[in-house]
Amino acid sequence: MTDRVSPSRLQTYLNCPRQFEFKYIHDLDGGERTDLERYFNRGDVLDTALQLTATEVDTDTDPETVQSLARENFTECWQRKTDSDTYPSPAAYEFDRRISAAAIDDYLEAETDGEGLAHLRRSVGTEVHLEWTDDELGAMHGYADNIVETRDGLLIIDYKASYSGRRFPNKNGSDLEKQLNGTNHYPSRLKKWLQLGMYWEGLTQHELYSPGDEIRFMFYGLIASKERTPTKTGYSVDVRGKAWEMTDLYRENTSAFRTLIDESTTGIQSGAFDPTGDRWELIQEEACGDCDYQSACGDYIAEEVKFS
Ligand code: SF4
Repeated sequence: MTDRVSPSRLQTYLNCPRQFEFKYIHDLDGGERTDLERYFNRGDVLDTALQLTATEVDTDTDPETVQSLARENFTECWQRKTDSDTYPSPAAYEFDRRISAAAIDDYLEAETDGEGLAHLRRSVGTEVHLEWTDDELGAMHGYADNIVETRDGLLIIDYKASYSGRRFPNKNGSDLEKQLNGTNHYPSRLKKWLQLGMYWEGLTQHELYSPGDEIRFMFYGLIASKERTPTKTGYSVDVRGKAWEMTDLYRENTSAFRTLIDESTTGIQSGAFDPTGDRWELIQEEACGDCDYQSACGDYIAEEVKFS
């Protein structure tokens, strides 16, 4: 197995080694999931609209121009990248469009904290392809949504369509510790940990980085809360986003991130795809329920048969 690894591949392996084997070794189709399709499309629209806007503005662009460009980009991306057929109804499609548009507006709202305005105006690269070779583990790569110049260095931002405390890593690293010592399993946090650890490392080997630059990392959940209020003509929506700074988590747990990347990469390289080891119970509890390969998976079926 010589392919370079990415956060997505390592996440799949850590979630369940057999899932990795089905997906990346046998290239097995997991079947269509319209609920996932619309979620990914919405995330793609939000990312792309912000990234396009970042490439069109700089520190001299006034807030109103940034906001107006972002709205135009959002409208164009929504039309091009979403499909109303993946929604349960036209009303649900329209509601999601309005929530997503409001999320962009909130991120670029100058009256509150205006955080997004600074992130776009000071961007030095979007969808930055980070490629590097680790001396021990081999070729790695990933794409950073937005890299922003700060007073002391560079800030990596990874946009998430939504924020939820259940799906985002703890800032104190207690969940990461449990993942590594095998007392818990967090499928929805794995990729975020890997993005943090890998993008940080990848940036230090990218031309944007100069020795001495201070690196920071944040996830930005564009839809952290949403409210729908009836009006005389229909309804209005109010959306708030949330910045989730991960810099201290990485600095204080660098070796734990290294272990996560190391264990998954060496597991893939050695072809260790049997999930029924020490973590089997946790994989069954936390991963099998959402797995697209259930019906093809002998490990899962054998366990079901045992208890039926
Ligand atoms: S059904 Fe469970 S054991 Fe089988 S591939 Fe999926 S997560 Fe792994």
